[in-house]
Amino acid sequence: MFGRAPKKSDNTKYYEVLGVPNSANQDELKKAYRKAAIKNHPDKGGDPEKFKELAQAYEVLSDPEKREIYDKYGEDALKEGMGGGSGGGSGFHSPFDIFEQFFGGSTFGGGSFGGGSSRGRRQKQGEDVVHSLKVSLEDVYNGTSKKLSLSRSALCQKCKGKGSKSGASGRCYGCQGTGMRTVTRQIGLGMIQQMQHVCPECRGSGEVISDKDKCPQCKGNKVVQEKKVLEVHVEKGMQHGQRIVFQGEADEAPDTVTGDIIFVVQLKEHPKFRRKDDDLYIDHTLCLTEALCGFQFVLTHLDGRQLLIKSNPGEVVKPGQYKAIDDEGMPHHGRPFMKGRLYVQFNVEFPDTGVFSPDQCRALEKILPPRPSNHISNMEPDECEETTMYDVNIEEEMRRQRQQRQQEAYDEDEDAGPRVQCAQQ
Ligand SMILES: [Zn+2]
Ligand SMILES: [Zn+2]
Repeated sequence: MFGRAPKKSDNTKYYEVLGVPNSANQDELKKAYRKAAIKNHPDKGGDPEKFKELAQAYEVLSDPEKREIYDKYGEDALKEGMGGGSGGGSGFHSPFDIFEQFFGGSTFGGGSFGGGSSRGRRQKQGEDVVHSLKVSLEDVYNGTSKKLSLSRSALCQKCKGKGSKSGASGRCYGCQGTGMRTVTRQIGLGMIQQMQHVCPECRGSGEVISDKDKCPQCKGNKVVQEKKVLEVHVEKGMQHGQRIVFQGEADEAPDTVTGDIIFVVQLKEHPKFRRKDDDLYIDHTLCLTEALCGFQFVLTHLDGRQLLIKSNPGEVVKPGQYKAIDDEGMPHHGRPFMKGRLYVQFNVEFPDTGVFSPDQCRALEKILPPRPSNHISNMEPDECEETTMYDVNIEEEMRRQRQQRQQEAYDEDEDAGPRVQCAQQ
């Protein structure tokens, strides 16, 4: 075969067929396809060729892999890539397959639009059920398991989800098996409002079971409520927001792939420890004597161990200073023998005013480092102006100032009001 030069291929047709820009996202594609497919369905008198084109365009563009190939190399590349090679689009599904996939196994012919009543059709995807799972920091430090009792719908065992003793069911007369009923109302001159609602007789299933054929266990409902106990393993080091999935444990329904039950880990706040990734943080307050002359204290860890934490000889700890201890943080999820750090932030509490007598102050001055000698020496004190300093509550002060500004702004508005009105007249 000759080395084919990459030809400039047509990669806009599919977008044109669906009437979307080539930047359209999946949602926009879906909406455009849904609208066009319903309009052009052959059962509704649409053009079968156009319907086929639509389905083909949607099949390609809704698949990120195929869409990428199409965007780069055009339609032909897809046909080649599918192994058929005959060029007749043999790699594509029938347009009706795609339509069914899209609309959950219903066709216009049977009239069961969205009813999902017919057997042997493609299954619907059931919904996932999401619960939040509150855990303590101790739980994720040590690992634990929690037994949770949940109520869910399960297929009736007696009738195997058929709802009837005989396994048979008939088409609902109320909706001709569609599950939906359309009500037309005249609302004013020449205006007609059409409303669709779920058929009350079959509750949307499109089928009915005669009273004497109803399964005695589920009374024709096909499902029963059951209690299920799930054991949820909270593993060491799990993070806030992490998901624990129980596949296929959500509500069961006929012709439906059962969804998952998903627990989302919600980490409760701890009174002592804060967590950041695999590290832990605590605050510890020292008195001035401890900060200057050394300290030791006992910390009860999340597994109950007592840690002795102490300063090095001669060490002075400053307010706000951090220190770290290796391997006393959180276990790493999946590798719990690896642990983060424990950070301690120190706060230093100073003694209150009046604790030291003038004599004690003189004694302290002898011990503590001397005052910086250059602080006042350059200037004679009697060349300066005297000032008076007093205590303030700074938060209180800020709030008062904010209130004052608001009041002023309000007053200004009041002044401005009438002037504006005058100008408009
Ligand atoms: Zn039953
Ligand atoms: Zn019905």
